[in-house]
Amino acid sequence: MENLQIGTCKEVRGKKTKGFLEIKLGNLKVKIPIFIISGVKDGPTTFISAGMHGDEVNGIEIVRNIKETISPESLSGRLIVIPVINTLGFRNSMRYVPLDNGDINRQFSKKNPKSASEVIAKTFFEEVVRKCDFGIDCHDSNAENILLPHSRVLNSKEAPEVAELSRIFGTDLILEREGKPGMLAIESYKKHKIPVLTVEVGGGIKIWDKHVAEGIRGIRNVLIYKKMLNGLIDVPIRQFVLDYRYGYRAPFSGLLDVKVELGDAVKKGDVIATLYDPETDKEEGIKAENAGVVFSVRLKSKIDTGETMFSVLHFKQDKDEMYALNAEMILNKEVLQSIIVRPTKILDTFLSIFDSHYNMLNTIVSEKIEKIKSYFR
Ligand SMILES: [Zn+2]
Repeated sequence: MENLQIGTCKEVRGKKTKGFLEIKLGNLKVKIPIFIISGVKDGPTTFISAGMHGDEVNGIEIVRNIKETISPESLSGRLIVIPVINTLGFRNSMRYVPLDNGDINRQFSKKNPKSASEVIAKTFFEEVVRKCDFGIDCHDSNAENILLPHSRVLNSKEAPEVAELSRIFGTDLILEREGKPGMLAIESYKKHKIPVLTVEVGGGIKIWDKHVAEGIRGIRNVLIYKKMLNGLIDVPIRQFVLDYRYGYRAPFSGLLDVKVELGDAVKKGDVIATLYDPETDKEEGIKAENAGVVFSVRLKSKIDTGETMFSVLHFKQDKDEMYALNAEMILNKEVLQSIIVRPTKILDTFLSIFDSHYNMLNTIVSEKIEKIKSYFR
């Protein structure tokens, strides 16, 4: 392998090196920190990035941990580590690039970039992404919400390599989405066949240690799977692939008081939150439409009409069987070579609130979901 150079960061075989990718934007020079961990053995080239949205801090913590804990001696191949892409946004706790209010993650389709966010996207893509075999880009929910840790994938039929990474990343939940033009994961796969896994961990401009730990475990899983690290891949026995996020939207604006925690199970009719409008003195309890597990919660108490208060992965009861609605449940085999499986926390939590034991059915409600090719079966 020829030694890499990204901006001022030069690869030295068997070492960790540090530098910057400098981008000139008019009179301003923006510096993006770059680290290259160069393994003692050959292997894939991968990037691990965070902070494309400047108000998403959990990914930065995940990436920092990966950078600190992976040594060149333990690594096959090389890791390009970018703890924060949108440095200007991070300084201002802003999702967007403050110079043009642009979202970097919508600019990866621009051939002739002009505005600041377009130039940053293009430079990052050419200097980092195109030099890699695959990558993981860390996000979190945003300043106002939090979701259970999950990965976001394109339709699994369209992008099987990305779906494969999402399975190995090993969160209980995987969200399938069409995506929008200009997103890194979409442009890199569709145009260059470079799989990029988007992961979402935490939210609320606050570090959540237990969720961060899931993100670190997930990245390590992927690196072990790609034979860049030694170790055991750790995935849940069952994973849920959602193609639709069922959000409960606020019927009126006011103060939201969410009564449940992320990951809690609810029965049909349970009051999940109350909404209060101080101007009209109107108060309403928001009830679960079906049994399920809460997988997103709004952290900000003031809410406007139509905004999402929380999301629930719904289950429907039929005699002694339970069906997941709008989700496919995938069963991972118990032990296979270097893979260990752990219980699926959200499922155990859910079943624990019912007296009798239900059979969980593998159910595809939506025809849109194609089965992800299973690497565990
Ligand atoms: Zn983001």
